[in-house]
Amino acid sequence: MKFKIKKLSTQTRARTGKLETARGVIETPIFMPVGTLGTVKSLSPEEVAGCGAQIILGNTYHLYLRPGCEVIDRFGGLHRFMHWDGPILTDSGGFQVFSLARLSKISEEGYTFQSHIDGSRHILTPEKSIEVQLCLDSDISMCLDQCIQYPASRDEVAAALELTTRWAQRCFEFWEENRRPQNNLFGIVQGGMYPDLRERSAAQLAELDFPGYAIGGLSVGEPIDLMRELADFTLPLLPDEKPKYIMGVGTPEDLVELVALGADMFDCVMPTRNARTGQLFTGSGNLNIANARFREDTAPIEDGCTCYTCQHYSRAYLRHLYKARELLAYRLNTIHNVHYYLNLMADIRAAIKADEFIKFRKEFYRKRKPST
Ligand SMILES: [Zn+2]
Repeated sequence: MKFKIKKLSTQTRARTGKLETARGVIETPIFMPVGTLGTVKSLSPEEVAGCGAQIILGNTYHLYLRPGCEVIDRFGGLHRFMHWDGPILTDSGGFQVFSLARLSKISEEGYTFQSHIDGSRHILTPEKSIEVQLCLDSDISMCLDQCIQYPASRDEVAAALELTTRWAQRCFEFWEENRRPQNNLFGIVQGGMYPDLRERSAAQLAELDFPGYAIGGLSVGEPIDLMRELADFTLPLLPDEKPKYIMGVGTPEDLVELVALGADMFDCVMPTRNARTGQLFTGSGNLNIANARFREDTAPIEDGCTCYTCQHYSRAYLRHLYKARELLAYRLNTIHNVHYYLNLMADIRAAIKADEFIKFRKEFYRKRKPST
C-alpha cells in the first residue's frame, strides 16, 4: 500500500491524498460506508459503487460468528463472497465484543465472550483477530484494541492503552508472518480523553511503523467539543506520511471539522442507519421523510442531487413508501444518504485542491440548517 499526499491546505491542516491498494486507488479524505455483515444494508454492491464508494467496511466480529471463516474461505475472501471487488477495511472485532456480546473477561490473552446470537463461548485474541481478517482477505485490517467506556478513570484508561500496545505488537507480528502482499494493518491509538495518554499511545505505536494509523475511542458518548478537542490534539501526533483514520465518526459537521484537523479516513453507520429511520441528509439540513409536510411534495429529497433516488423519486413517494414500511424505502433512502456523504467528501477534496477550504466550510455552515 502506498500513500501519497497530493495537496496540503495552506489555511488548515486539511490535505488530499491517494491511497493505493492492490484493489484500487482511494482518494482521501474519504468516507467508508459500513457493510457490517458483508452488505451495506439494503444496497447491492453496484449501488454502493454508484453512490461513489471507493472502499467499504466489514465487521470482523459479525462475519466471524456468521457465516464463519470456513464459509468465506471457500470463496477466497470477503470480496468474492459478497461480490465487491474494491478495497475493504475490516475492524478488529473488539468494539463489537465490547458493545454487543456478553463479555465475560478481558485478560492479557484477549477477550473471552459469549456470542450475542447463540450464547456460544469464544476467545478473541490479537492473533485470532488478525487470522480472521486475513481470512476475509481484508485490504486494511485493524489491530485488536481494548475499548473503554466514557467516562473512565485515568488508571483504567492507562491500563487499557498499555494492553492495546502489547496487543498491537502481537497483531503486527502475526500479520507480518501470515499476510499476503495486499493485506495492510493499521494501529489504533487509545488514551481516552487524556491528552498525555493519547501522546503515550501514539509514541508507542509509532515504533511499530504501521502502514496507517487510526484514532479509536472517540465518539463513545463524550460531548462533541471534547471529541474534536482530542482529535485536534491527537492527529498531529500521528506520522504525517501515513493515512490517519478516525473510527466511528460522524455527522457531516464532524467530517468537515475533522478534515480541517488533518484526518483522512472516516466510517460511521449514520448515513445507512438513519436512512432506515427516515432521516435524510441534505446540504440545507436533515429532514425526516415521515413528516406530514411532505405528503404532497413533488420535489426530490434535494434539488440538484445527482443520486438515483433524487433523479427519479419525489418526497411524497418516499414518504408513502416509508409510512407503508415498503422495503424499497430503505434502499432509496440509503442510496441518497450514502451518496450525500460521499459527495460531501468529493466536495471537500475539491475545496482542498483549490485551497479554498475555509470558504467551503463557511458556505457549508451557511446552507446547513437544523433538522426539520
Ligand atoms: Zn439524492
